[in-house]
Amino acid sequence: MNTPWILGLTGGIGSGKSAAAQHFIDLGVHLVDADHAARWVVEPGRPALARIVERFGPQVLQADGQLDRAALRQLIFQDQQQRRWLESLLHPLIGEEIRNYLERAESPYAILVSPLLIESGQTAMTKRVLVVDAPEELQRQRTMARDQVSAAQVEAILKAQAARDERLRHADDVLLNDRDPAWLRSEVERLHRFYLTLRGGQP
Ligand code: ADP
Repeated sequence: MNTPWILGLTGGIGSGKSAAAQHFIDLGVHLVDADHAARWVVEPGRPALARIVERFGPQVLQADGQLDRAALRQLIFQDQQQRRWLESLLHPLIGEEIRNYLERAESPYAILVSPLLIESGQTAMTKRVLVVDAPEELQRQRTMARDQVSAAQVEAILKAQAARDERLRHADDVLLNDRDPAWLRSEVERLHRFYLTLRGGQP
């Protein structure tokens, strides 16, 4: 069997990435989420967790031995050097985790879902980029309804992410998710039919 080509799926917070990803899964497409891979590499028993504890001490562990993300975030919050150390430890491991997972994918193409696909350089792993896009006002409304966060918190996240036009510049395909859920589903189906016609991500 040919190895599947990789589609990168990204979009700003609240754009509808996860909802779109779920529709692709329902269509039988194999998919890995970069946020999940980032959690797997620090699970108890994995070498990265031991290195983190070595550096920051047992205060970054919860009672059950899992990484205490909030405690770690607090420690690196205003310490650029520590943050860089952590990034240089985790970045390659997350990439490896994603690659291992995608190598086992068996659908004609497979998807890497990543909120920071473009910012993190993970596009190097993909043949094609699909951006789920929505007007910022809709992103705000959907995120606040989903996460019960304040307008200020959403604003801070929006600012930290790549600007909309920067993301769109990297897009091969754009799914404009500005209508109802049925529209989103039909757009995913349309794109899926198109992707099945591609060889190696190219027409
Ligand atoms: P992301 O993963 O990009 O942050 P989600 O897929 O979680 O975004 O979508 C954000 C919220 O908006 C979710 O609660 C989702 O169910 C809802 N949502 C997504 N697309 C639509 C749509 N077309 N119409 C209505 N609600 C939507």
